[in-house]
Amino acid sequence: MLQILYTVAGLNYWDIKSDNNITPISAMIIILKPDTLKEDEDYLRLMSYLRELPNIRINTHDEFGAQQVLTEIYLIGETAALDQEMIESFAVVDRVVRVSREYRILGRHSGDQRSSQFAYNGVIFGQHNLHVMAGLCAVDTREHADQMMRALAEHGQVCARMGAYKPRTSPYSFQGHGKDCLPYVFELAGKHGIRVIAMEITHDGHIDEIHEALDASGGATGVMLQIGTRNTQNFELLKAAGRQKTLPVLLKRGFGITLEESLNAAEYLASEGNRNVVFCLRGMKTNMGDPHRNLVDFAHVPVVRRMTRMPVCIDPSHSVGIRDVAPDHIPDIMHATCQGVISGANLVLVDFHPQPTRALVDGPQALTLEELPWFLEDVQLARQAYEKRVELRGRYGSAT
Ligand code: PEP
Ligand code: MN
Repeated sequence: MLQILYTVAGLNYWDIKSDNNITPISAMIIILKPDTLKEDEDYLRLMSYLRELPNIRINTHDEFGAQQVLTEIYLIGETAALDQEMIESFAVVDRVVRVSREYRILGRHSGDQRSSQFAYNGVIFGQHNLHVMAGLCAVDTREHADQMMRALAEHGQVCARMGAYKPRTSPYSFQGHGKDCLPYVFELAGKHGIRVIAMEITHDGHIDEIHEALDASGGATGVMLQIGTRNTQNFELLKAAGRQKTLPVLLKRGFGITLEESLNAAEYLASEGNRNVVFCLRGMKTNMGDPHRNLVDFAHVPVVRRMTRMPVCIDPSHSVGIRDVAPDHIPDIMHATCQGVISGANLVLVDFHPQPTRALVDGPQALTLEELPWFLEDVQLARQAYEKRVELRGRYGSAT
């Protein structure tokens, strides 16, 4: 057994080989023209050409959009010596992208113009826009869920967070109402026009429970499956969430692993077939962040946007974890939110509660419904500042 460190595009990879035949694994993506038919003669010619290539694994993926079907063919193996021009000369080929680093599907590769957005239940999630998903860390009562979603609707929000399955540090803490609360949560969401609810799952069985409850509600709303920081490397859960393509996934960064490890976790979802993935920064577990609950890591917003095509979410509640205010009387949670938004974050997942002192989970970090309009306006201000910063960069030319 031989372990080799090699470098591709400035990143180090280990490869384990059982013999001395050392060849770096690389990949290539062939993007076909929209709506290419599998019966098309040129498609068949391309496929028989590719099948003849030595030491290359072929993986075909169809992306069904609202208007068209996009087919991508992944070549994995010894692609370095492949003749790109030859492949591009097939009439069905739109373009060829050489994959320069890991995160083959979700990664942003050089010359890669593929879209970095997806639509779910009428809401577009992408690297170019911003949504807020405010709500209950854990659903405790129907009344609180109703008050929360009513307040969101009054302020023009179509997304919410509503925790049903809660991973808790202590087995004696409230574990969430689980599937029992799904019927009323979905019904209330439908009533208040909430289209997407972020909801953590901790077991693959929860996916079926959510599907069943959504069906029973007559499709009243939609769910974005949340995979929490304690499960970032629960590979079986990732595979299960990746195998289904109906519900998008919000993956939290692991709180004690490297960014690269967390991005690979996201790639698990995509490699199983689900590319509708949002990546969420939520702070790192270390006492260096004291007095905050975690060390805020929102400086990585531009890093994740650069390395991948995923929309980037920030979770200021679980990062900061306390409601304390600065001398300007602005809560640290709101300062941290704006720090992420001014760097181009695309989603804000944040805890609110109608009565934080009565919340069963994470009350000390919840903002109140009275603070909701202030919070939303503050976020808009930071977003406008971000857009002005992009404009300013345009006037000064782009940095390399
Ligand atoms: C949550 O968002 O409710 C949560 C438990 O977050 P995390 O996985 O980031 O701790
Ligand atoms: Mn929480």
